[in-house]
Amino acid sequence: MPDRSKSASAGYPFPSSPAVTSRMKANRSRDTGPELNLRRALHSAGYRYRVNIKVPIDGRRPVNVDIAFPGKRVAVFMDGCFWHGCRVHRSVPISNEGYWRPKLERNVARDRDVTSSLEGAGWTVIRIWEHEDVATAVERIASCLGSYSRSSGLACSER
Ligand SMILES: [Zn+2]
Repeated sequence: MPDRSKSASAGYPFPSSPAVTSRMKANRSRDTGPELNLRRALHSAGYRYRVNIKVPIDGRRPVNVDIAFPGKRVAVFMDGCFWHGCRVHRSVPISNEGYWRPKLERNVARDRDVTSSLEGAGWTVIRIWEHEDVATAVERIASCLGSYSRSSGLACSER
């Protein structure tokens, strides 16, 4: 007869263990590795920003901005290559294309909508692919912060 009391007491880690909790935190999109790297690089270059703020937009729900410089109205988004359809790395999983393609296209459409809503509210939007070099990304952000004015155009936000 198996010793049930022994196997039951061996148990499994509770979901609330520190390891699981930190893993769940790491899975939140705004805490992905590439975004953390960018935030660290910006911080060590002397830039101060706010993370994950809600920007009120007339006529629609507030927009969540990953990395925001509210004083300059500059919004930075770090986009994952798969979820946001980067031209270099995008690939629709063949096995279930009917499911993925519309889902990914909706993401891209939502990104465009968020960008145009913010721009309509006077923000400069910088979208950075997760595959982009961090130093280059910091330079792009720096050029937006340094040269930003409503009359200077928004070239710094192009990618
Ligand atoms: Zn990519």
